[in-house]
Amino acid sequence: MAAAAGTGDGPSNQEQADSMEAREFSTQKCIQSLNHACQCHEANCTVSGCIQMKRVIEHTKICGCRNSADGCEICKQLIELMCHHAKACQETKCTVPFCLNTKHKLKQQQLQQRFQQVRLLRQQMAAMSNIWAAAPSDAFSKNSIDGA
Ligand SMILES: [Zn+2]
Ligand SMILES: [Zn+2]
Ligand SMILES: [Zn+2]
Repeated sequence: MAAAAGTGDGPSNQEQADSMEAREFSTQKCIQSLNHACQCHEANCTVSGCIQMKRVIEHTKICGCRNSADGCEICKQLIELMCHHAKACQETKCTVPFCLNTKHKLKQQQLQQRFQQVRLLRQQMAAMSNIWAAAPSDAFSKNSIDGA
């Protein structure tokens, strides 16, 4: 008759993965409120996170820390969010502040990485062709004679 209490499915070593997921989730949530707050003109908006996000955006507009070497925590966090947003953002006329700047920067970074890859490839190709040029070409000439 007495039912055993507890199912034995308590949290064990999944805790770490859960907290990581939670962090990812809160980032997504922050990006959502960021997207919303940038388009929202309601002074008394009831959407969760909207008022806070607007305050943060207002802060970054008046905060001069972007010009100093180490920015303040609020600006740092918002810039981190911007980067997350900008990576996924497809809007060419996005209203999120710094989004276009961040996207431009990301693009430049990607271009630079590509450029470096191409340069590396070219160097490898050049090295290869040097090896080919230095190698005796007997096998090739024999083949071409046979083919004729
Ligand atoms: Zn709102
Ligand atoms: Zn700041
Ligand atoms: Zn954007």
